[in-house]
Order: sequence, then structure tokens, then C-alpha cells
Amino acid sequence: MNLAGRLAIVAGDRAVDVEVASGGAFSSDVHAAFGRWDELRRWAGSVRDADTEPVPEASVGPPSPRPSQVFAVGLNYRDHAAEGGVALPASPMIFTKFPASVAGPFDTIALPPGSVDFEAELVVVIGRRAYEVAEDDAWSHVAGLTVGQDISERQLQLQPPAPQQFSLAKSYPGFAPLGPVLVTPDELDDPDDLELGCALNGEEMQRARTSEMIFPVPRLVAYLSSILPLFPGDLIFTGTPSGIGWVRDPKRLLGEGDELVTWVVGIGTMRHSFRAARRPLAVAITEPE
Ligand code: ZN
Repeated sequence: MNLAGRLAIVAGDRAVDVEVASGGAFSSDVHAAFGRWDELRRWAGSVRDADTEPVPEASVGPPSPRPSQVFAVGLNYRDHAAEGGVALPASPMIFTKFPASVAGPFDTIALPPGSVDFEAELVVVIGRRAYEVAEDDAWSHVAGLTVGQDISERQLQLQPPAPQQFSLAKSYPGFAPLGPVLVTPDELDDPDDLELGCALNGEEMQRARTSEMIFPVPRLVAYLSSILPLFPGDLIFTGTPSGIGWVRDPKRLLGEGDELVTWVVGIGTMRHSFRAARRPLAVAITEPE
């Protein structure tokens, strides 16, 4: 966990500061933890009688605050492809969310002009450099799993003439919130079958199981690492199930004062509120068809 910018391990509803409890053997730097992941896990398993501290929500940051790469998968659930009226992909559809969009699990997110939508997703955090990794060996390169939202501004995303602005439209500040904790795969009964969902102002919008993914986590790690190396701390947003706001009738988009609650059972729950951004965009955006 990232507690006030310091690396902490979670013990029930309290946390242990890693630098303090390890007598300085491990740094408080959250990103640096991924560079010594195996060592850190061994040490964490041996911690006894450490001082714990409460976890105020306002202090919880993203469990991987400075990823070098952030991958995201489009159309990874059949029902979501169907609701968008598009064919199922034969290989994973990959785009990026730029690292500037990473945010914490309880932040207030500024809404740019346009049509801002939600996408509840399971997020993979890489724990070991992964290049040309086989599917069978993929989980051993994963530090852990966390909850994510692939917040998306649909008008910029779908700008004509070709809808190619995925990366920018999904990278406004706050559009890649993560957290509240990183759970190692061995702590989950079945890391390939987790329930996820989100609710807007108390009304459930999405609910599915990660076992419904077209390309499950090991296949995504194998596919991406067959093309380029993945580095410790890198993120993979694994795709969203059906129920997004853009395809509802009427559309259900995020507005000022809304509360979006996003969860993965066995990992945790994020809660976000929204406010209007201070500045208009530097470009004019036209309404997509
Ligand atoms: Zn997505």
C-alpha cells in the first residue's frame, strides 16, 4: 500500500511502515519496492510485532505511483464488445494510458469538458522484468492485482475521421485511479476468477467476473511480453465488462458531485468524487455520431 507516499504493508485495517519496521533495510519509496519484490515479500512474511498505524483514506495513494508503462486492453469481455456493437478481437486490443493519469483510490477527479465515462477494471502490476514470457510462467512476473478505473472522455476518444484518440482521451489527470491495496496473487483463492464492478451514486452499473475475460491475465502478459519488455511497476488495465455509461439509453455520464464506487472482491474498494475542471480544452471537440 502507498500510505502518504510511503510504502506500507497492510495488517487488517492498519498498516506497517516498511522503512521503519525494516530498520531502513527497505526504502519508503513505493516504486522502488518493485525492483526488490521477491526480497520484500520474504521480509514481509517474517514481520512480527511491528508498530501499526491507522489508514486514513485521504492518505492512500496509488500502489504503483510511477509506472514506466501503462497498458490497457479494449474489448476484453464479450458482453462489452456486444454492447458496443463490435466484433470480438482475435488478439488483444492494446492502447496506453499515459502515466500522468495515475491517481489514488479516494481522490476527487476533475472532469474535463465532454462525455466522461467509467470503466471498472482489474489492474495487473508487474513485479519482475517480463520479456518473452510463456503463459505458464506469467503469474510469477506479476507483483499483484489491484482495482482500477479506466476513466474515459468519449468525445475525444471517438473523434472522427478515425476513432484513434484512445490514449489521450483516457489520460487526463486522475483518469487512471488505482488501489486501495496491491494483493499478491497467492493471497487470492483463484486470481483468474474475481468479481468486479462499480456503482454510480449507489446504483450498480457494472458487475462481472474476470473469468469472463476473452484474454485472461497470463495471456495478456505473454502477448505483451512477446513484443516488448514489461518492467517492475508497469500496469495492465485488463479491460471492462458491460454496463458503461456511454452505450446506455439514456447515456449515463459522470457529472459534478457524483460518487463512483469501484470494487474487486478480495482486493478492495475505491471511491471517487468528481468536480468540474478549471480550464476548457485547447482544442475544439465535435460530438461523435
Ligand atoms: Zn478500459
